[in-house]
Amino acid sequence: MSRTVRAARGTTLTAKNWQTEAALRMLHNNLDPEVAERPQDLVVYGGTGKAARDWASFDAITRCLTELAEDETLLVQSGKPVGVFRTHEWAPRVLIANSNLVGDWATWPEFRRLEQLGLTMYGQMTAGSWIYIGTQGILQGTYETFAAVAAKRFGGTLKGTLTVTAGLGGMGGAQPLAITMNGGTALVVECDPARARRRLDTRYLDELASDVDSAVRRVTAAKRAGEAVSVGVIGNAAELLPDLLRRGLEADVVTDQTSAHDPLAYLPIGVDVADWHDYATAKPDEFTDRSRESMAEHAGAMVGFLDAGAEVFDYGNSLRGEAKLGGCARAFDYPGFVPAYIRPLFCEGKGPFRWAALSGEPADIAATDRAILDLFGDDHSLARWIRMAGERVAYQGLPARICWLGYGERHLAGLRFNEMVASGELSAPVVIGRDHLDAGSVASPYRETEAMADGSDAIADWPLLNALVNTASGASWVSLHHGGGVGIGRSIHAGQVCVADGTPLAARKIERVLTNDPGMGVIRHVDAGYERAAEVAAERGVRVPMREE
Ligand code: NAD
Repeated sequence: MSRTVRAARGTTLTAKNWQTEAALRMLHNNLDPEVAERPQDLVVYGGTGKAARDWASFDAITRCLTELAEDETLLVQSGKPVGVFRTHEWAPRVLIANSNLVGDWATWPEFRRLEQLGLTMYGQMTAGSWIYIGTQGILQGTYETFAAVAAKRFGGTLKGTLTVTAGLGGMGGAQPLAITMNGGTALVVECDPARARRRLDTRYLDELASDVDSAVRRVTAAKRAGEAVSVGVIGNAAELLPDLLRRGLEADVVTDQTSAHDPLAYLPIGVDVADWHDYATAKPDEFTDRSRESMAEHAGAMVGFLDAGAEVFDYGNSLRGEAKLGGCARAFDYPGFVPAYIRPLFCEGKGPFRWAALSGEPADIAATDRAILDLFGDDHSLARWIRMAGERVAYQGLPARICWLGYGERHLAGLRFNEMVASGELSAPVVIGRDHLDAGSVASPYRETEAMADGSDAIADWPLLNALVNTASGASWVSLHHGGGVGIGRSIHAGQVCVADGTPLAARKIERVLTNDPGMGVIRHVDAGYERAAEVAAERGVRVPMREE
């Protein structure tokens, strides 16, 4: 069935109140053709990350949200609505659990068996929790990561450097723009021409080379000239990365954002893009073996670039884990991006904070941008980001913004937005949420919690506590997922969304949720022994019982 879904705009409510209207619009926004990678299959991003289990479930969720009262809560089990209970007005309107499996059963084959039986779906991170905002959602994080690479190795700018990476999908598509925003030259390998063209159309990618030779010539010249330009090239990264290494391409930074977390979403060498889906569906085991072997070639070439002196890091897609299974013994020679660049930010509860204008009006986001500059304009890097995003980011679906804020900051932004809704400065309410790539709501030993100081990488009590505290604090919807980012068996994570509808009640909820949620990041890192987190807790008044007299 071919269907087109798009969030309603404006101030006319379809649901009974803005809290449920917001959930409805964000579910629909996730599947907007401008936003989702494969909306016809309900796939939003990240390989097979879905917004609802099937179209019947989607319709039932839509109906429930339309009818839901302000003292009722809808329960969603892996994309299917399974119950509506009487709760109270401080309770979330929707509680979501996606892709969760009991430990010994948490493998891709078992997950797929259950998925085929129609019992579950893959929720990724913000797909199944209805707060995906298109490629912008990852753009600032990618920009900050490359800025950290620049600060560590290249004197604070990527000007005059060449970054080689792969994957121009929903998240990976942010890489070329993030690299050029840092002044660098980028070469990005993508096997699917349609994906590459989509990034060209949305201005995330500057140019698409006709073949490898011309791509190499173009980026080599651009690097020499210090030109900030991104060039895509069509090919299989498992073949092209080793080829580029053999050619002696002088790459300064190498990473990857293909969908390596799911072997069926990574194209093996020798398989045509056109045959990909049918082959993976018909012979998943054979396909998995082949894609892991190819990932071993791919990661092997990245290790080769590491040996040649490049800055190499894993970009949170499990390529190292899968490549190791495919026979690359040295896959873990290069680090993940969180321990390499991001953890100090996590110690402050900092991470990708985001909001979307339910009105559909870009002017509302422009007004919130001004509010952020007013509140945090002294933070020069943040101010630079907000200005650059205003100029260079094309919206997908409902206008939205992202910026990294930490403990003690987020609730100020949320309260200001709520006041702006109340005063009419914004034409309709805004939703405020965050990525699951986050300081205190994720257990993911290959990514957010890789190499924790106390070895607590796989302790998954934290995301559960995060979902519980956000539920107790008044979030509008809360989600608890397994397997996002890095794949089944490798992560447990939670999300929350608040709706700033301009009411005093929303203000009280927002203040609590946007304090307690980043507070989890601070206490998680205090508990693991990070001194910076202990300083933040002491300076900003986060209570940690075992550190009190
Ligand atoms: P996606 O499925 O939308 O895109 C992946 C892209 O990789 C597709 O365009 C696909 O054609 C391409 N690809 C697959 N195999 C290839 C190959 N062999 N050679 C060249 N191209 C190939 O996924 P996405 O949303 O862009 O996410 C990419 C990965 O990043 C996922 O594993 C996801 O879980 C992870 N992720 C990382 C972060 C982070 O913060 N670092 C955040 C979200 C997601």
